[in-house]
Amino acid sequence: MSDPKNSKDSVIRRVQQPTLDELFDGVRACDRAMIGRAITLIESRNPKHQEKAQALLHKLLPFAGGAQRVGISGVPGVGKSTFIEALGTKLTTEDKKVAVLAVDPSSGRTGGSILGDKTRMEKLSADTNAFIRPSPSAGVLGGVARATRETIAVLEAAGFDVVLVETVGTGQSETMVSDMVDFFLVLMLPGAGDELQGIKKGILELADMIALNKSDIFADKIKQATREYKSALHIMRDASPNWHPPVLGCSAITGDGIDGLWETIEKHDRIMTDSGEREARRVQQKLSWLDAHIRDRLLDDFYGNTDVAEVIDTVKSAITNGETTVSHAVTKLLGAYQAGK
Ligand code: GDP
Repeated sequence: MSDPKNSKDSVIRRVQQPTLDELFDGVRACDRAMIGRAITLIESRNPKHQEKAQALLHKLLPFAGGAQRVGISGVPGVGKSTFIEALGTKLTTEDKKVAVLAVDPSSGRTGGSILGDKTRMEKLSADTNAFIRPSPSAGVLGGVARATRETIAVLEAAGFDVVLVETVGTGQSETMVSDMVDFFLVLMLPGAGDELQGIKKGILELADMIALNKSDIFADKIKQATREYKSALHIMRDASPNWHPPVLGCSAITGDGIDGLWETIEKHDRIMTDSGEREARRVQQKLSWLDAHIRDRLLDDFYGNTDVAEVIDTVKSAITNGETTVSHAVTKLLGAYQAGK
């Protein structure tokens, strides 16, 4: 029989947890192990961990805000990780510190489709100027959003210059990521010819730039695709009076066009900073973050209320049987909620 004192659990329990000050100093010194532990704390749903995480964030917040935050989206296979490897390596070569985060709503259930396997971004993973973190598997999308936003703050306080947030091309997670970055880049393929038909209008509304990837193998189609995307963007109203989203071709494999893409992102950054729009966008994002938080907390509180739990099944079946209206049911449930507080 194994000695219980040496069991895996007790070994884990005996590992000393860093104090709040140790975490703070470690993050500020850009100590990777400490950054990793701070993020793990942020991702935890344990109330004790959350309390410590929030105290840490409170201390770090005055040092946050300094990074260029760039969202990168596109369907699986478009070349996101190859692109991030190319762009990230270019930036670290220029002595920038680059962090890569992922937002993958499927990560809780399936192990995720992005940043899961270690073969992705091999060069960047070994780069001392880069930090890569897979998607939190915090379950619901709201939890992933909170953890990612707070992780950005930690990385900024650690001194990262650029934070790249990768996400898959599904509407909800794209909207979520565009709401936490300064620049939202959408990768597309110039291949199919009728690709515009398959694109939801929503994604064009979010994009600050469209990059047509794999220009090395789709060279003959780039011109036509660029024209089509440009005219699609042309008929839409620009989100900013100072920026019209450009369409550029690139190859993540050969590196062709990557320099031009980054120059465009920097130009956007200058224009937005000078016009005050960047700050305004960040303030707006903070306010919608507040809104989302309030909604999450209220919903948790509502569904966790024992008086609501007692009547909710009856109310639901009354609705499905057509015995009551939804409006009447809501009044009843809110009444139970108020009484049970
Ligand atoms: P992701 O799922 O969007 O992250 O896509 P990956 O980066 O994993 O790339 C999917 C496949 O496309 C891989 O086989 C890559 O090597 C390939 N790929 C990515 N970018 C390019 C490119 O610019 N040109 C070519 N020819 N292939 C590319």
